[in-house]
Order: sequence, then structure tokens, then C-alpha cells
Amino acid sequence: MQITARKKSAALAQKKMTRKPDGSDRKASARGGYRKPLQIFERNCSVGRTVSILCNAWSFLILRECLFGAGRFQVFQSILGLPRQTLAIRLKELTSQGLLRQVQYSKRPRRSEYRLTKMGMDLYPVFVALLKFGDKWLASKEGPPLQLVHKRCNHACNPIVACSHCGEEIEVAQVTYRDGPGAGTSPLNRTKRNRRASEHTRLERRRPCSVARSLKIIGDYWSFMVNRESFFGVRRFDEIQNSLGIAPNILTDRLNRLVADGVLVRKKYQDLPERFEYQLTPMGKDLYRPLIAMLRWGDRWLSGDEPPLILTHRNCGHDFDPSILCDQCGKPIEAREMSYQLHYPNPMQ
Ligand SMILES: [Zn+2]
Ligand SMILES: [Zn+2]
Repeated sequence: MQITARKKSAALAQKKMTRKPDGSDRKASARGGYRKPLQIFERNCSVGRTVSILCNAWSFLILRECLFGAGRFQVFQSILGLPRQTLAIRLKELTSQGLLRQVQYSKRPRRSEYRLTKMGMDLYPVFVALLKFGDKWLASKEGPPLQLVHKRCNHACNPIVACSHCGEEIEVAQVTYRDGPGAGTSPLNRTKRNRRASEHTRLERRRPCSVARSLKIIGDYWSFMVNRESFFGVRRFDEIQNSLGIAPNILTDRLNRLVADGVLVRKKYQDLPERFEYQLTPMGKDLYRPLIAMLRWGDRWLSGDEPPLILTHRNCGHDFDPSILCDQCGKPIEAREMSYQLHYPNPMQ
């Protein structure tokens, strides 16, 4: 239902734009000052849609605690230590986005708690893919903070991102893309996307977490989009700028950060005049797995029946869905079949 509403409002916005192509606000122009900025279009991409939900630091933390089994307002508040009002707003937002639902657990006094919906539960593979990336590249000396256990086979498990057709683990060089029925561009909604550092310092609050460490690197909207373009083979400053409609100063900032974090490397491709391009490092290439896990989630929950992008696995020659499998028994991983061992004190006890 939500999706239809969103589509309708997008269609409405489109109509408005054809009527008034310059997008200007008549009243404001009459006053002589304000003009609406030019509308910019971005590539339809389920990853972008997913990232804009996940990349709010607080929403991410709330969802993570839900996956750890939290559900009550006071529990969220004591684990995350955030102001009542902020928590209330975030919970309301996640509920209206369809990720959480409210369930009454006591009639008198009337009390309810938050539970993950099917859509929210299905984010689990995305978390697992981010977790694995963080464990591999960003773990501290003490090793990963958390070990996953697959209850179904009773083994400590390291999930793999695999091809749904042949079950083989996916490597970035083995995947090709083509446009799906939902391909195209949509108006870019640029509200509140530029906040970065302030939010991301909060991510590991109260819990060491490989997922949070991964999001610190790629969890800002623009960093992720720049990264996504790298996977599409877009490597040069002007090309990235054109394809994302990003301001040059923000792009420079994000490229520098991604280079400093070890995701991209700056390489000279021409001498006169000197020109550089940005290539993925081995660590950057490994981000591919969380990226396609997000793609799968976004396609399933945010794109209706029209995925913007179709993936083909070169090794087996078939179109595929990225699936997250247990490396021990080869079965798909589902949130309810997983438990974990913490390598740090549990903040819920
Ligand atoms: Zn395959
Ligand atoms: Zn297993």
C-alpha cells in the first residue's frame, strides 16, 4: 500500500513538473528572491532506496536491537541512551516505513512493544553481509565482536553471499548487469542527506559492532552512491558527478574519505594533462556482497514487481537473486534460525 502511495506521489510530482518545466515557485519569484533549484534525476536503484532507510544512524541502531530481540521503549532507551522524543520519532518513522509494527502485550495498564515485520526481518541478510565485511576488514585486535551460530545445523557459521541458481559464492568479477523493468531515473530527493560525521560517531554506542563499523565507511548516502558507481564501472570525477548529480565539493570530500578508508585508490590514467580515476581496492571489491544484499532487499520490498536491475552469474549463465547461505550446511539463513555468541558483555543484561 505504501509503495502505491509513493508511486502516486512520484507521478504527481512528475505531472507538476511537466506543467511548470522550470519548477519555479510563482509567489517566490514575484518576491524576486528565492528560486527552486533545478530538479536532478538519479538512476533507479534499490540499493539507494535501501541505504536511505538504513543510513540514518538511529534507525539502524533500533533495527539492530530488534534483531537482537529488543522490542520495548524502555529497553531501546536504556541500551541506546537516546532522548525519549528522538526515540519516539524514529520508532514512528520505522513503523510507517513498514519495518516495525506495534503489538499490545498488556491490557491493563495498556502497553505495547515493537516487533519487526516480515519486511524488517528480511533485512537480516543485509546485516549479515555488512557484519561479514566488518569482521574481515575492520575488526580490532580482539577479533570480531560477535560469532553467529546457525541453529539449524548447530555450527558457528560464516554466512556467504551466493547465487540462487547454482549456490556458488558470488565474486564481483563474475556478475553482469542489465536493466530490469523498473530501470530509469527518478527525481532526486536531496533532503537531509549530507549529514555525516555527527551521526556516525553514535553508531557503536554501547555495543562494539562490525555492522556499525562497515556503515561508518559506506553508510553515508553519498559515500554509498559513489561506491555503487564504482561497481557500475564509473571511475572518473566528471562521470561520477554527472551520474549522481552531486555537488563537486561533496564529491571531492567523499572520494578523499573513501581513499583514506581504503575503499578506493586514486590512479593516474593520463599524463598530459594529468588525470586520475578512482578504482576499487580489494577491500572495496568486498563491499560488493553487502551491496547486492541491499539490492535484493530493496527489489523485494521497495520496487513492487519491477526490479531496476537484473543480475546474471557468469559461471552458471543464469539470472540470479543474491542469497545468504550458511557456509557449514549450505542452507539459506533466516533471522529466526540464528543465534550468536557475544565476545563482550551483553548490554541487555
Ligand atoms: Zn550461479
Ligand atoms: Zn548451517
